[in-house]
Amino acid sequence: MPSPSPSVVVREEERDLLDEFEAGQLAVELDAATPEEVLEWGLDRYGARLGLCTSFQAEGMVLLDMAWRIDPEVRVFTVDTGRLPAETYEVIEAVRDRYDLQVEIHFPEASQVEGMVGRFGPNLFYRAVPARLMCCHVRKVEPIRRALEGFDAWVTGLRREQWASRSNIRKIEIDHDHGGLAKVSPLADWTIEEVWEYIEEHDVPRHPLYEKGYTSIGCAPCTRPTRAGEDPRAGRWWWETNAPKECGIHCPLETGGFEHEVEAILGGEHAEGSAGTLDLVGRGAGLVGLGSGRAKR
Ligand code: SF4
Repeated sequence: MPSPSPSVVVREEERDLLDEFEAGQLAVELDAATPEEVLEWGLDRYGARLGLCTSFQAEGMVLLDMAWRIDPEVRVFTVDTGRLPAETYEVIEAVRDRYDLQVEIHFPEASQVEGMVGRFGPNLFYRAVPARLMCCHVRKVEPIRRALEGFDAWVTGLRREQWASRSNIRKIEIDHDHGGLAKVSPLADWTIEEVWEYIEEHDVPRHPLYEKGYTSIGCAPCTRPTRAGEDPRAGRWWWETNAPKECGIHCPLETGGFEHEVEAILGGEHAEGSAGTLDLVGRGAGLVGLGSGRAKR
């Protein structure tokens, strides 16, 4: 069965959304289930209205492999921020070859990127936390928000042991930050050792940067390899000392209306309803002054 175009519009009354009671019940029922069982449940219930979101790190690759074994037509999507390492594209090609999957790739709004980069420079993220969050918002959070409009459920590779902000995630949750669709995290209770065991056992394609000491992989300028004893996410935005290692996609943080601020500063179309940026951004904290600031790096 061919996958529907991501642009297919589904009327609100046709969507299959969980209510709080059902979501709570499922979270309890599936908490001890294997990742494959959780994926089977999701694919059975939602079919092409379920999307597997991956940045091609180890967790996402495990889920992709598992989901593909259950349903070779599973929809897989990602965001190309425009700043990804070259190696990530190699993994996308490997996925296309190995699984014969069409990866749905979403891009940031060109006018937003042009406005941001023109005003604050291409490497604005090194200057201050609000600038980094603006970049993540424009390049990641907003494209994901648009991509999710095409789904009733999405699968993520979140694990509880990854970071403090993820320690309480459930395998099934309602994603209130993205219109109330179901957020499915089959690997919530897995350790990193279990992830790598699966990859070994099933010969799953792996991101080449793991070989170079990376333990978490995002955009090229914002990720470095980690050193022995460091937290696995320490290489993400390593120069920041006062902000969570999150971009705003998964961490439900107070926006304080930041998305409207971005629109005001950068101009261009900017859809409403986006959430997930930090209060740290706090009503434009220093954003305007960044235009002439010097990079800290
Ligand atoms: Fe921008 Fe860095 Fe965030 Fe990528 S990780 S969107 S380059 S700030």
